Amino acid sequence: MKYCENCHVAADLPRCPLCGGKKLREVKDEDYCFLTEMRAVDGEMLADVLRGNGIECVAMPSGNGVRPNFSLWLDKRKLFVPWQSLEQAKAYMREVADTETEKWRQYLLENADKLHISPKLEKKAIKKSKGACGESVIEFCRGLIANAGQICDGGGSFSPASGVDLICYAENVTAIIASETFEILSISLKKQ
Ligand SMILES: [Zn+2]
Repeated sequence: MKYCENCHVAADLPRCPLCGGKKLREVKDEDYCFLTEMRAVDGEMLADVLRGNGIECVAMPSGNGVRPNFSLWLDKRKLFVPWQSLEQAKAYMREVADTETEKWRQYLLENADKLHISPKLEKKAIKKSKGACGESVIEFCRGLIANAGQICDGGGSFSPASGVDLICYAENVTAIIASETFEILSISLKKQ
């Protein structure tokens, strides 16, 4: 495995996947390697989980704080862990994501009867999906929530009363649902 000192990335490639640099060297156990970049609040939480499990972790502020109104949720963390702990850290990261997914899935399914969508968006989704959504986008979304591979908190909505944007990822569909109002804010289907 190679290592780019510039980007702190471990990669089994002739060039660094981030900067394209060719000056890579063999990775050493103690090299800090890029793990992930996420919202500050999630990044700090994951860093705590890792440290709690004996993995050294460095959380560096990143992202864009230039626009003050948005800085709160554009504020991000880049996490780095020693090479020797990278695989273990990835496993903890998946575990944290799975726990979050199941928590949100249960919450959304308990409130499945409150799901709603604007008639305009529903019409658009039915048309764009070419039948994949069937007659009811709400029914379709209930199925999506039950089967989503990942559901995560995508950060605050523009209106605080809406709670946070819950992003549901399934194989070919991504839907965004407001956590407090249960409005389906967006639904996008990947082209087959
Ligand atoms: Zn690089």
